[in-house]
Amino acid sequence: MAFKSVPVVPAGEAGALAAVADNRNQRLRRPEISDQTQIDPLTPLYCPDGAIALTAGRYAISERLCKGCGICAQESPGIRMVPEYTGPRGILN
Ligand code: SF4
Repeated sequence: MAFKSVPVVPAGEAGALAAVADNRNQRLRRPEISDQTQIDPLTPLYCPDGAIALTAGRYAISERLCKGCGICAQESPGIRMVPEYTGPRGILN
């Protein structure tokens, strides 16, 4: 895993900038953590919604704050994007 140089910016707690956001209805895909050990420690800084938090040594993604952009999955092999909905999609599909 390559280390990237990113600027140090002020950061609030996870979700602090989007306290009232509820992005669940915007997503077509959602991130799923498949391997905690393969998550780049900088990945929470890349998330535009502050949806990734590290608590007691484990990463967690907020279902409410995440808008499904996929940046985290691009940066960390331990996160993959999965379809938000896998049920029937109507009579033509
Ligand atoms: S998919 Fe985008 S918004 Fe959701 S946790 Fe990953 S980086 Fe954040």
